[in-house]
Amino acid sequence: MDRIRINNLEVFANHGVFPEENSLGQKFIISAVLHVDTHKAGLTDDLTESVHYGEVCNLISKITRENTFKLIERLAEVIAEEVLLTYDRIREIEIEVKKPWAPIAQTLDYVSVTVNRKWHTAYIGLGSNLGDKEGYLKLACDRIAQNSKCKLIKASDFIVTEPVGGVEQDDFLNGVICVGTLYTPEELLDFTAGIEAEAKRERIVHWGPRTLDLDILFYDDIVMHTDRLIIPHKELHKRLFVLEPMTCIAPYFCHPVYGKTMSDMYEDLKKRDLI
Ligand code: AMP
Repeated sequence: MDRIRINNLEVFANHGVFPEENSLGQKFIISAVLHVDTHKAGLTDDLTESVHYGEVCNLISKITRENTFKLIERLAEVIAEEVLLTYDRIREIEIEVKKPWAPIAQTLDYVSVTVNRKWHTAYIGLGSNLGDKEGYLKLACDRIAQNSKCKLIKASDFIVTEPVGGVEQDDFLNGVICVGTLYTPEELLDFTAGIEAEAKRERIVHWGPRTLDLDILFYDDIVMHTDRLIIPHKELHKRLFVLEPMTCIAPYFCHPVYGKTMSDMYEDLKKRDLI
């Protein structure tokens, strides 16, 4: 990805922990690195194919002047998010906020905070086998599309599948969606759990019937294991009802642990299923 750099933009504003900082104000110096594909703009000499850095400077300046935060960490976070939400072409951003007049009884050039934020790509598995199954899957897609921190990039067809896990229950409707998101994996899980709750999902029987099940299958090519989250989802390589819709929307996406494409994993599992 190409980069546009904004270096040392000066803004007078009121951020700080001390009340005097909030009332008197001081100088903040902000730098940004915008990750943008500039190739087409480079070929055509057309500004609409790139990002107008003057406008970005104005936005950064406005956010800095019109808010009063205690922390420059917060200011950097808000600037990064606002710029990513405003400019589709900016996939990733680095923001550095410098505070040269930080009120400490020492001599220094400045203190600064640098944050790096980007649009991530997640794949989410959808399943329902209770009530209005299609309605619940659509509700999940709608909630994701309506959230400004998420973009619904692609959705597979919904497929009817037989339940696994030995519990006697109705067939499932399953699908997979590809989502662009500013959320961390944990924030994404909180968000999807909220959608499940909205669909009146109750966890009564393990692997039992559910109005809506949302599983984070992949998040970029991250491999993580915490108390709350295992990514890639630990069952997905055994589930045709996940690999089939994954193959439909991202056949060449490569599993970061097994190193195989979705389409190869699907074909392998189908063969094994027949044996
Ligand atoms: P279930 O609804 O049966 O899929 O289980 C949901 C629980 O699994 C949640 O409480 C999560 O904390 C945990 N979990 C672990 N890894 C994942 C993942 N990749 N996606 C969704 N939930 C996960």
